[in-house]
Amino acid sequence: MRRFVDLHTHSSASDGNLTPAELVAYADAQGLAAIALTDHDTTSGLGEAGRAAEAFPELRFIPGVEVSARFPNGTLHMLGYDFDADSPAMRNLIGQLVECRADRNPKIVENLQAMGIDISMADVEAVVVELRGGVGDGVISRVHIAKALCSRGAVRSLDDAFARYIGAGAPAFVEKDRTPAVEVIGAIHDAGGVAVLAHPSQLACANHAQFERVLRDLIHAGLDGLEAYHGMHTPEQIRLYRAMARRLGLAITGGSDYHGRTKPEVSLGRPRVPVAAITGELATRFL
Ligand code: AMP
Ligand code: MN
Ligand code: MN
Ligand code: MN
Repeated sequence: MRRFVDLHTHSSASDGNLTPAELVAYADAQGLAAIALTDHDTTSGLGEAGRAAEAFPELRFIPGVEVSARFPNGTLHMLGYDFDADSPAMRNLIGQLVECRADRNPKIVENLQAMGIDISMADVEAVVVELRGGVGDGVISRVHIAKALCSRGAVRSLDDAFARYIGAGAPAFVEKDRTPAVEVIGAIHDAGGVAVLAHPSQLACANHAQFERVLRDLIHAGLDGLEAYHGMHTPEQIRLYRAMARRLGLAITGGSDYHGRTKPEVSLGRPRVPVAAITGELATRFL
């Protein structure tokens, strides 16, 4: 019996570097019981991943998405699982997210040009074509802009690109998140899915009381679960978020946030997330 799952991963449909099919094959080779593909703001890798998973009878495939949402304090990431990607609610949500990025990417590139850097959207698209074999209908993200800056010789590394130019607060940064978190939860539910707050440790809250207020507002809007296990959570944080989820009546989920070579410090299947640790609707539907 396979004992561990990874419910948070990225493919080349967003800013990971493995194709959806490669990612699924890798998850099976790692002996995972289940994998969810949760690309940023796109469902375009789910078809390929789902078809690839048919070759691996011991691996459960869970379709997902990681949506960047606005909330009063800034931005947060909402994971959606097992929704109908073709439903009007999901099509409308993804449409908004695609539009935000289509507006934003050229603005970031213009900011870079204004700083004297020789870079164009064509350079960014060339990076995407190399990773994905075409621009396709996946997401073009800041990671691709960072890679274009690297190949232009303008920066030494992705970290350097984010720190000096395109990270939040850096001079070429442009905000993108417009859809309120409450609306994101509603759309995921309308599409029959499960809504889980991603990496709660990354919410920019001034203190614990504020964090709990944000969480209660999201619960009021229908939030189903909390990502207690995450590649960047310490064992202490995992314990804390598991306890908090139980106290507030939220389901417990978890995953690595694997991005392949884009984030080499994160490994697929780490931290180990036991099948038995997953609670709520996802456990009922898949495990
Ligand atoms: P975007 O969704 O276009 O705003 O791009 C944000 C993505 O950039 C995040 O999902 C991260 O995976 C990635 N990212 C942020 N900082 C870094 C960094 N220093 N190095 C590599 N990737 C990063
Ligand atoms: Mn990412
Ligand atoms: Mn995230
Ligand atoms: Mn992620």
